[in-house]
This record gives sequence, structure tokens and C-alpha cells, in this order.
Amino acid sequence: MSKPRIAVYKMSSCAGCQLELLNLEPILLDLLGAVDLSYFVMARRDNEPGPYDIGLVEGAITTGEEIERLKKAREECRILVAMGACACYGGLPSIKNWQPQRVVESRVYENLAAIHSTTAYGIDYYVPVDAYLKGCPVSREELLEFIKGALLGIRPYLRPHSVCVE
Ligand code: SF4
Repeated sequence: MSKPRIAVYKMSSCAGCQLELLNLEPILLDLLGAVDLSYFVMARRDNEPGPYDIGLVEGAITTGEEIERLKKAREECRILVAMGACACYGGLPSIKNWQPQRVVESRVYENLAAIHSTTAYGIDYYVPVDAYLKGCPVSREELLEFIKGALLGIRPYLRPHSVCVE
């Protein structure tokens, strides 16, 4: 039987939630025996095309390009998961929503002509989401619990262990 295929997508984020996935290191090899991390740009070069069984999306959506990538992710993943507070609610990137768009962009970019950012939203503003793993960063234990539940086909017991955002 083929192993369930997992994809990890990065949107506007600090990569802290992806790091938590990598920080499962003590059991990562066991985990890799049970699942295939098919698409994970932060961890592998030879990423494989979809479809995937589970898609873990990190980060808020802040650009048109991310909206398109997110919609593609929704199409190619059977279960789509918002991983961490940014993907669930907009998180830290959504601080920018409280100031005029151009003011925020001018703090970062010299040439604004090529910048087309949008208001920062969680991913369910654009696509249906099957599960939310909250926290900033996401809890390792909860992440593991979710993957185990998905493998066994049972509803996972999710208990947030977040530092600052639930
Ligand atoms: Fe980083 Fe927190 Fe967003 Fe995760 S939820 S990507 S740790 S800011």
C-alpha cells in the first residue's frame, strides 16, 4: 500500500511552523516510514507533483500570487489544513491590515510599482479548509496527533499548546 502523501506550503509567514514540523526530529524517521513528505520546499529539493493526501498550509495570504497558489493547493490536496495562527486567522502578518496598504509597503520596498499586496487573511477567506491547527507556532504534539489521526482515519484530539495565540 502506498504511503499517504503530504505537501507543505509556505505563504506569508516566518517559517516557524514548518520548523516545528522539522523539530519532530526524534520521531521524524519513524514518521517518514509512515508518510511521504512529497512536497516540502524548506526540506527537500526534488519535490514531487500532486495530488496529495494532506496539505499543510503555513502563513497568511497577502498577495494575488499566494491566492493562486492556495487555490491550486486546494485542488491538489484531499485534506487541506491551516497550520498555525497566520494560516488560521492572518496572525502577525495581519498587523498590516491596520495601516494603509501603501504606507506599509513603503516601509519595506523602495520601488512600489511592482508591489501588489492585499489585505492579510487566513486561508479560509479564499478556500474551504478541513482542519485548523492553531498556535504561534503550531504545537508539535498537535501536529503529530493530527497526522496520526489522518493516517488512522479517526478524528484527532486537538488541544492547543500555543505560546501567544490560540
Ligand atoms: Fe510564524 Fe507564528 Fe505564523 Fe507560525 S503562526 S508562521 S510561528 S508567525
